[in-house]
Amino acid sequence: IGCFAETEPEAGCDTSNLQTTAKLEGDYYVINGKKTWISNGTIADAAFVGAKDLNTGAESFFLLDREASPFDTNELHKIGWKADPTSEMFFEDCKVPKDNEMTVMMGKAFTDPKLKESLPLSEGMMTLLGQMSPFTALMTLPRSGMGLASIGIAQAAFEASVKYAKERVQFGKPIGKFQLIQEMLYHMNVLIETGRLLGYKAIDAIAKGSPEARRLSSMAKIYGGEAAIKVTYDAMQIHGGLGVSEESPLERYYRDARMMTIPDGTSEIMKLITGYSILGKGFSAYT
Ligand SMILES: Cc1cc2nc3c(=O)[nH]c(=O)nc-3n(C[C@H](O)[C@H](O)[C@H](O)COP(=O)(O)OP(=O)(O)OC[C@H]3O[C@@H](n4cnc5c(N)ncnc54)[C@H](O)[C@@H]3O)c2cc1C
Repeated sequence: IGCFAETEPEAGCDTSNLQTTAKLEGDYYVINGKKTWISNGTIADAAFVGAKDLNTGAESFFLLDREASPFDTNELHKIGWKADPTSEMFFEDCKVPKDNEMTVMMGKAFTDPKLKESLPLSEGMMTLLGQMSPFTALMTLPRSGMGLASIGIAQAAFEASVKYAKERVQFGKPIGKFQLIQEMLYHMNVLIETGRLLGYKAIDAIAKGSPEARRLSSMAKIYGGEAAIKVTYDAMQIHGGLGVSEESPLERYYRDARMMTIPDGTSEIMKLITGYSILGKGFSAYT
């Protein structure tokens, strides 16, 4: 199991403010610092850790094998996504071979034919890597994935609601006959259909190596996450008291949906990326 460790107590959305440092000493980098909100940190065998290289001043990533470069962790408890632990991570004079620095590893991966063959990257992703920074290119994948995973949660909540609307009888008829219930089903369904299409469009742009991948994956992430929150909320409403019962899976869908708008770029940051992608050079919110 691996983890990707970038976020820090003082560097959330502002990832340019990393305080974790990497100092080259002979054949090793020595890493010092703290990470927070890292998925799978407690159970990770390997960690890809962002740090400021004290020799160059640039930020980079370093691959840590936990056995060879041990670090401490602490679990942070959260309302959803109970299947994967979220963690703080602590690095104290943690020694990492200098070849485990990202640009060295990527250089090797792209020039060594054997390694290149085993890279799990599509042709489209290779094209994107040539157009934008590795971080920006690679983040298009989890962002599109988060959008579509959100739609998966919404779909489950929607299907449960359709079934319940046909079965639950009040005032002598199934509640699905009431127009206000049908209106909720309409809104849920249209959010799901549009979110899914946006997710597919983003994935298609990545597969084609289109520069549109950045804008589309950011939009797919916001739209999918916010759609899932709205759909799971309405699903609970359609289920009445059962919706808020711990016995039904709906409360889990709702808690899991609520998680989707924070990791891998908050909705606000996704909107800023979209705005910048639409308006172009000179319109970055950060500079
Ligand atoms: C369950 C979970 C799993 C995670 N997994 C990982 C992981 O595996 N690896 C990893 O590195 N990180 C991970 N994170 C961290 C996640 O990426 C950060 O939480 C996220 O980037 C926001 O940082 P923050 O929590 O410090 O919020 P802050 O940056 O403090 O933001 C607080 C609020 O201010 C808003 N905001 C900030 N800047 C701006 C701006 N310029 N304009 C408008 N609004 C702004 C934000 O959108 C947010 O609403 C995870 C987080 C969670 C909750």
